[in-house]
Amino acid sequence: MEFDDLDDLYRDTILDHRRNPRHSDVLENPNTTAKAINPFCGDEIYLQLRFDENGRVSDVGLQGEGCSINQAAGSMLTEALKGKSLDEIEKIDRLYRSMMQGDMLSEDEIEFIGDLGNLVGVRQFPVRIKCAMLTWSALEDAIDDYKKSLSR
Ligand code: ZN
Repeated sequence: MEFDDLDDLYRDTILDHRRNPRHSDVLENPNTTAKAINPFCGDEIYLQLRFDENGRVSDVGLQGEGCSINQAAGSMLTEALKGKSLDEIEKIDRLYRSMMQGDMLSEDEIEFIGDLGNLVGVRQFPVRIKCAMLTWSALEDAIDDYKKSLSR
């Protein structure tokens, strides 16, 4: 996918995350981790999450290799996750997915998902939506495992 195909406004934010990925250090003592692979373009990511005693994300680590959209989307997600409860994470997940499926989000909803809203242009490129969703499949696995660990 060529970046020229995306609106300038969105492209700058995506490139910034690509060049300066947030929370890229491996997290020590995570509560849950997950890995996801997209064989189509060689995207690979590894996610770690730590929760505080109130059940909010206190720290997040994300490492990976792959295309720009995958890397930028992952970095944006790590920022969106910080300080969020499980319910809030599920809300971001729902909003982001509905945006990728072509729904319009309200201003409040766009604010809630943060920089992830800059990926709205990716939905014009169906083959790239997988790249933009890869971190989410890892996140969902990590959350499932975390919930299981809580009920043990
Ligand atoms: Zn990709």
